Amino acid sequence: MKKTLRLILGDQLNHQHSWFQQVDENVMYVMMEVRSETDYVVHHIQKAVAFFQAMRLFADELKHNGNQVIYLQLDDSENKQSFTDNIRWISQKYKIESVEYQSPDEYRVDQELKTLSEVLHLPVTVVDSEHFYTSRTEFAEFFKGKKQFLMESFYRYMRKKHDILMVDGQPEGDKWNFDSDNRKKIPANHTIIQPYLFHRDVSDIVEMIRGSEIKTMGEIDEKQFVWPVTRKESLKLLEFFIEYCLPYFGTFQDAMTPNAWSVYHSRISFAMNVKLISPQEVIDKVINHYRQNNSISLNQVEGFVRQIVGWREYMRGIYWLQMPEYASLNFFNHENKLPHWYWTGETKMKCLSHSIKQSLQFAYAHHIQRLMVTGNFALLAGVHPDEVDQWYLGIYIDALDWVEITNTRGMSQFADGGIVGTKPYVSSANYIDKMSTYCGKCHYNAKQKVGDKACPFNSLYWHFYARNEQLLRKNPRIGMMYVTWDKMQPQVKEELLNQAEAYLSKINEL
Ligand SMILES: Cc1cc2nc3c(=O)[nH]c(=O)nc-3n(C[C@H](O)[C@H](O)[C@H](O)COP(=O)(O)OP(=O)(O)OC[C@H]3O[C@@H](n4cnc5c(N)ncnc54)[C@H](O)[C@@H]3O)c2cc1C
Ligand code: SF4
Repeated sequence: MKKTLRLILGDQLNHQHSWFQQVDENVMYVMMEVRSETDYVVHHIQKAVAFFQAMRLFADELKHNGNQVIYLQLDDSENKQSFTDNIRWISQKYKIESVEYQSPDEYRVDQELKTLSEVLHLPVTVVDSEHFYTSRTEFAEFFKGKKQFLMESFYRYMRKKHDILMVDGQPEGDKWNFDSDNRKKIPANHTIIQPYLFHRDVSDIVEMIRGSEIKTMGEIDEKQFVWPVTRKESLKLLEFFIEYCLPYFGTFQDAMTPNAWSVYHSRISFAMNVKLISPQEVIDKVINHYRQNNSISLNQVEGFVRQIVGWREYMRGIYWLQMPEYASLNFFNHENKLPHWYWTGETKMKCLSHSIKQSLQFAYAHHIQRLMVTGNFALLAGVHPDEVDQWYLGIYIDALDWVEITNTRGMSQFADGGIVGTKPYVSSANYIDKMSTYCGKCHYNAKQKVGDKACPFNSLYWHFYARNEQLLRKNPRIGMMYVTWDKMQPQVKEELLNQAEAYLSKINEL
């Protein structure tokens, strides 16, 4: 029998993959920790640890089940620190006759692995990763011939195709979207449940990373690592979410508070992105629970289903349709640097200091913090999308190019000129004050537009519209903003623009 080498990437920890359904003595698995993955961006220390720890435990389980596994730790002397170089020597050493790998989710890795057959002079087979609802090309087929990629129409197609929350071909509750029920601020007397945390000792991995002089950011409690790194832990976190957070998920989906770092969000993005759990089992469990518990309302469940069946699959579709060009789009030609305090959280703006500090502490911020606080500010401040991308790709535990870049460059920065979103997600302090309890605790005044204490979001908001007028005035979803702008007295406009310029000139001191 031919000896086959199967590569498992760090985000392919899918226990349910057909590869693992039987042990084959002619198959050897290889997993590796490599510098090409640790060094393409400055990662949060918790992100690097989560990947390595999850990979090591996955490899242990494969071995325990009787599989042959080569696991290369970052500090192994044989490790050549790249996928291709390692596969080359392993193939020679073990007289490998064919290589197989699962379709990668990242363009960068996909490009590298495509050259394997040529480099190795061996037959190479690519198989599906058996994780997503959609294939890589299904999105492109669905939108073929269409000018716009509307998430809503894709989401409806997915709900129908997979019969999710459907009754006789119609959406359950006679509505596709319950967003209008899902915009509540946390009431003053409401106590949010504490997040479910794990307590794993990961000091050996931290020591190895520090010893390798890999540049990282952020903090870690290495004796009590809080993220799930096994399938069992991932399912436990999902169970906790379903039991305690789902009943409020939709209602407080957009809410922000300095008193909670994850509110009622699931925190399962890392577990899903490395494939320890699949989107389908998450959705099935959530819907089963909903069916068995009359107390959970439809808006909570639909809000959650939309994120996974809609946004997550949609972003993957956009990625494979638009890469590699997508990675260099800069619709507004923004050129500014990211303020220094994005790396420390040391700013007087409460919404930003809390969102950034918790990101450094936990490698996590929830969607509205990413979109309407850090993303919103970077866009208003005209930061180059490359800088914004690097920051998001590094800091979040769940950050993988396919879902980070589409959310950052697309949804958040509108650098794609409207491929993902129909208009830029920008706001003044008004939105942040409406959805959070940050402003009451801030050095700045959310209601003030000019003056020493004026919230920077207010003047930067108008500066953004004024400087991008040529690009945005004709956008039908934005036209009203220019009607308001046109009605302002010239002196008011000038004061706003001067205030914004003053803030931009001392952005590192805000
Ligand atoms: C600027 C920016 C950058 C982002 N970068 C990433 C990233 O690198 N990796 C990542 O997984 N998500 C990213 N997101 C999407 C979203 O913010 C995270 O998926 C979410 O915060 C993860 O936390 P959670 O598991 O608690 O999510 P929940 O709020 O509980 O949502 C459940 C799940 O839905 C999926 N989901 C929700 N929103 C999105 C979305 N917009 N796109 C894709 N999937 C979504 C995620 O898998 C998530 O785990 C980004 C969003 C923005 C605005
Ligand atoms: S006042 Fe402005 S800077 Fe302060 S928390 Fe509110 S929105 Fe953020």
